[in-house]
Amino acid sequence: MRDFHEAPHAIYGVEKWGKGLIVVTEEGEIGLRNPLAPAAPAVSLPGILRDLELRGIRAPMLLRVSSYLENEIRHINESFAEAIARVGYRAPYRGVFPIKVNQQAQVIDRIVEFGRPFSHGLEAGSKPELVIALAHQLAREALIVCNGVKDVEFMRLAVLSQKLGFNTFIVLESPKEVDTVLEVYEETGIAPLLGVRVKLTNQISGKWEESSGDRSTFGMNTDQLVAVVDRLRDAGLLHCLKLQHSHLGSQVPDVNDVRRAVGEACRYFTELTREGAPLGFLDLGGGLGVDYTGEKKAVDNSINYTVEEYCANVVETVAYAMDEAGLDHPALITESGRAVVATSSMLIFNVLESTLYDAPDSPAPRADDHHFVTDLAAVHGYLTADRLQECWNDASFYRRELRSLFHRGTVDLRQMARAERIYLSLMARIKALVDLSEGDSGVEEQLEQLADIYHCNFSLFQSLPDVWAIDQLHPIAPLQMLDQPPTRRAILSDITCDSDGKVDKFILADGVSPSLPVHDLPEDTPYYLGVFFVGAYQETLGDLHNLFGDTNAVTIDLRPDGGFDLLHEQEGDTISEVLSYVEYDPNDCIAAFRKLTDQAISDGTLQAADRKTILDAYRASINGYTYYE
Ligand SMILES: *Cc1c(COP(=O)(O)O)cnc(C)c1O
Repeated sequence: MRDFHEAPHAIYGVEKWGKGLIVVTEEGEIGLRNPLAPAAPAVSLPGILRDLELRGIRAPMLLRVSSYLENEIRHINESFAEAIARVGYRAPYRGVFPIKVNQQAQVIDRIVEFGRPFSHGLEAGSKPELVIALAHQLAREALIVCNGVKDVEFMRLAVLSQKLGFNTFIVLESPKEVDTVLEVYEETGIAPLLGVRVKLTNQISGKWEESSGDRSTFGMNTDQLVAVVDRLRDAGLLHCLKLQHSHLGSQVPDVNDVRRAVGEACRYFTELTREGAPLGFLDLGGGLGVDYTGEKKAVDNSINYTVEEYCANVVETVAYAMDEAGLDHPALITESGRAVVATSSMLIFNVLESTLYDAPDSPAPRADDHHFVTDLAAVHGYLTADRLQECWNDASFYRRELRSLFHRGTVDLRQMARAERIYLSLMARIKALVDLSEGDSGVEEQLEQLADIYHCNFSLFQSLPDVWAIDQLHPIAPLQMLDQPPTRRAILSDITCDSDGKVDKFILADGVSPSLPVHDLPEDTPYYLGVFFVGAYQETLGDLHNLFGDTNAVTIDLRPDGGFDLLHEQEGDTISEVLSYVEYDPNDCIAAFRKLTDQAISDGTLQAADRKTILDAYRASINGYTYYE
């Protein structure tokens, strides 16, 4: 049972998962704190939405907070610098941002800008991502690390970019790639900056367990590494092998796994150095997690460490191993993506309507009621807090009987509708009593089947693909009315016609719940919900299910004195745009539709005077937003 004196919003656990960035204001609204100006007051998120609406920007929208991105870039770089200074580590940290985690220009441009003072670079896993990386002015010492399968074109571009001052590393993923390296070397005469991707045998626990260890699809085993070293030596290019890479996985829940994997990586580093490779860079890939639930535990969607601890673990482990082996300390690289961008975006949408699984009142009894309807209504007479389960059982029994009578034709539609309404009014009273009674967890659990459905203006498949695909949890909370106790419990359904398009797991103060506490929908103002920490992976993995396109995307900066600046607005896809993604030419569609109207006029089913109205409606739709307006 929750403390009676707690604030009404305590149930959401914002204090637990909000990381001090997302808070609840005195007015009962979600507020955004500026981590770069701790003294500044929190900026009301509904206030930001009101302001954006005046400018013509509406939900659903993706809100990117540039200050959060800057904060995370600083945080990871300063945490490494602090650990390096404390341990007496004798080489720098040179982080790179993996472009695949969020390729949006608005995001990458800012990562490059905020990263410049720290010589933070970029990681490219494909040719298009390298093209993006090379369109940026990085700090002189910053690195570009190229992973992934590479053809001649990819390697040629990587090698040639050195001429422009880029420090572009080609990480070899297989012995076969050595052939490509040699081909490009012969062609250009430029000595490549090479790395090797090592497959660690340590299994990392968590959601991405399978992407680590022996069966990982990336990286080379010891046999392949030896082959690469031999071939590079034979070709006279072993002196180019300066970097060792191993990707630990993603969202590693347990910091002890990080320590073990880094220890193993150091063994390879030592051995490859003994083989004659002048390694100077140790790249530990991604894996630094985000505590989505705020639990601080080594479980899915949480982590049992802070960024500071992660950095300290990496630096200490490498320092110890290198000292032990008598080697110079290598520059440390991590390719943290999720931890850098996840917190900086939030998805905001309005609730369109609700399907309620209770009813406020019970219809009055009637003389011609079927006796089961009378029995069902009679449950109202003995429903008290100490007889909840019994009343639940009785109500369910009578309803079931009535349903089968309805199916057999003994009970008619109106009689059945009265029965449903009586049943739902009983459920309303049971729901209300459960909150007052203590520890009646059996009934509470059963009540989850009666959670309302709040229909929301977004597509799970477009905006939260990982929620659909891999059970990713993101904190979700109403943005307003948080000074009032929530009155209902709901699951969220999106506007696709797919029964999978729903959210039914929510992070609350007490743990994960199958329903979200919500308020009765206000009559005259929108009821907004926010899904937080969606900056990593969601945007590009999202798809066009039902042809719902990109939402509006807005980038803001929190001002040091409170308030916000609008930095950039990207209008969401129009219907015309999503049609072209599936190879429809919007002009052809208009032409085809026009032909049908002319046909209808010839057939006499459409008046010539109505043609314009109908064509205008079609054109307006094709130019409109794919979401509910
Ligand atoms: C995906 C990926 C990353 C990013 O991992 P995070 O856990 O998001 O930090 C880093 N390096 C490589 C090679 C990757 O494939």
